[in-house]
Formats: sequence, C-alpha cells, structure tokens
Amino acid sequence: MNKNITSHEFVITKKQRNKINNHTSFVIWFTGLSGAGKSTIANALENKLNDNSIHTYLLDGDNIRQGLNVDLTFSQEDRSENIRRIAEVSSLLIDAGLVVLSAFVSPYRKDRMMVKSKVKDINFIEIFVDTPLEECIRRDTKGLYGKAKKGLIKNLTGINAPYERPENPNLRIDTTKYTVDEAVKMILNTIETKLEKSII
Ligand code: ADP
Repeated sequence: MNKNITSHEFVITKKQRNKINNHTSFVIWFTGLSGAGKSTIANALENKLNDNSIHTYLLDGDNIRQGLNVDLTFSQEDRSENIRRIAEVSSLLIDAGLVVLSAFVSPYRKDRMMVKSKVKDINFIEIFVDTPLEECIRRDTKGLYGKAKKGLIKNLTGINAPYERPENPNLRIDTTKYTVDEAVKMILNTIETKLEKSII
C-alpha cells in the first residue's frame, strides 16, 4: 500500500446504514459454469428481495466486464484480477448497506477464498449453481460452448479451462432438479436469519 495514504475514520458506519435500511448487508456469491443459471437465479432473487424492501445491487459480467474490468482477458491471471476488483466493489457496497448479488463463474477456489477474506467470512454466502456441464452445453445461452467446439475460444471454463468446485458452499443448487422459483426459495431460507428481516 502507498505509504502516503492513510485511512480516514468514517463518521457513518455500516451498522448505521443497516439500521436505516432495516436489514443487514452482505454478499451472496454465485459461482458455477457459464450457462449454469447464476444470472437467472440472481435476478429472480433480487426481484423478490426488492418486493420486500431489501436494498440490493447485482454485479455480473454485463456491468463489470464491460466497464470497470474492460481491460481484462480470461487468462488465469486476469480472471484473478477480475475477481479481486469485484471483491473490492462488493466490500464497498456491503459497507454502503446493500445486499450484493455477485454472479461470476469465479472458477478458482483461491479467488473465492480471497473474496471471503476481503469481505470477511460473516459477510459471505457462497451459492454453488451446480448445473452439469452437459446441460450447460445443451443450453449454450451465450453461444460460447459452440464457439469453443469450433476452436474459436480458448480458456472456456469446463472445456479448456478448469473449474474448481466449492468444497463447502452455503448452498448447492442443481438447476436440472429445481426450478428458478425453488432455487430462490432455497436461497431465501439460507439468508433469512442473516438478513435480520423476514421475507414474505
Ligand atoms: P450463467 O449466469 O450461469 O451464465 P444464465 O443465467 O445466463 O447462466 O443462463 C442460464 C440459462 O438456463 C437461462 O437461459 C435459464 O432460463 C435456463 N434455466 C433453465 N432452468 C433453469 C433453472 N432451474 N435455474 C436457472 N436457470 C435455468
């Protein structure tokens, strides 16, 4: 860290923002293969949370890879830098009092652990969207698997780049077994106590 930068004691804290919002703030971290259903479930969950006056923000490839992280590739090094920056943003948003929904493949265990340590364990809920690769390939929502098959993409997670499964996620959802609505209910059950607010 630059030795000329000192940290300032902020007057308004997370605790005060949580009090105004009437709920706690933390990150719900979705990990899984491309096409697993991370964004779909995160969007449906955010909708439900907003119906219940929970202040949220959804981070995903669309608003991060095209802006803040537009300079990064899909090499292992850049993927780690991608997640490091998202961890920093998530941490700020948690401090701002929001329930953050982060939907990123985040294939490396060490990167996810880095997020957990950045935002602190207590503020990190890991949701493993565990859809089998064959089903993701069948869906091919972004056409990436088709391109990889033709040799047009290198580094595609699950095909020619690794995915390290979470060892101990807070929740594992196989979307071939549960609908989006069921997945949202499972997540709500997992976070309700932590939110300190009941959801209808
Ligand atoms: P990711 O964000 O993981 O890359 P997306 O959410 O963009 O994945 O795409 C997942 C696709 O799978 C969507 O087209 C979605 O409609 C479909 N899908 C089918 N069943 C489910 C389910 N049970 N949960 C989530 N997505 C599902």
